[in-house]
Amino acid sequence: ADVDFSCQDLLERARMQMVQTSFELVSDLSNTKTYCRDLEDTNRQLEHQSTTDGLTNLKNRFALDQELKSLDEANTRGNARIYSLVMMDIDKFKGINDSFGHDFGDEVLRKVGRALEEAARSTDFVARYGGEEFMVILPNCSHEDAASVAERFRTAIGDRRIEVPDGSRFVTASAGVATSNEGELYEVIVKRADKALYQAKQNGRNRTVQWLDFNADPDGEDDSQ
Ligand code: GH3
Ligand code: MG
Ligand code: MG
Repeated sequence: ADVDFSCQDLLERARMQMVQTSFELVSDLSNTKTYCRDLEDTNRQLEHQSTTDGLTNLKNRFALDQELKSLDEANTRGNARIYSLVMMDIDKFKGINDSFGHDFGDEVLRKVGRALEEAARSTDFVARYGGEEFMVILPNCSHEDAASVAERFRTAIGDRRIEVPDGSRFVTASAGVATSNEGELYEVIVKRADKALYQAKQNGRNRTVQWLDFNADPDGEDDSQ
């Protein structure tokens, strides 16, 4: 009976030990899960920070370049998707900064960013290209539709009636548009949009120019390649 008892005692102690160990394991696992969740949160935050423009909260240049590169990759894999690029530049922005201060200029940039975001569709990619320049990628947007979309962006900025403090004018922007052709790399399209934007400035600002227009002009030289 003595032997039986100590055996039972031993078994009981082993059982207790096992219960204790499983409690500890469960607790460890739960800690690990919390730790993983925290890491995931931190990763998401870092990802957001590295792809977001701090001033406007739009996508930043880095994120834009990544997106354009992925379009090139799809292109070289043979499943090219047509897209258009709208490059926008605030008109006479230096004057706004000079007359009313950098902080006011920053506020204008935020408002313009919001206007673009609101005018864009959820599939569009709206980014701050740098300074007072913005770029929107329009996936699946052909050259027939691109100019009117760019006009929508331009007027969305103008319609806000962002007034300068002395009431002398409203903030406007100019737009350049270009559309991809199969096999072309994004740098070519960016250059064309940039050229079109330059033309919009030359033509008097607060307007949209589509790169296509240059094809129609027999004297227009195409040095974008
Ligand atoms: P245009 O109509 O030809 O585009 O004239 P512009 O004055 O807009 O063009 P310019 O390139 O001469 O000036 C751009 C100005 O944008 C100059 C620069 O100080 C200002 N800028 C760039 N980044 C920022 C920013 O983050 N905040 C503010 N407030 N100003 C900025
Ligand atoms: Mg500029
Ligand atoms: Mg400008």
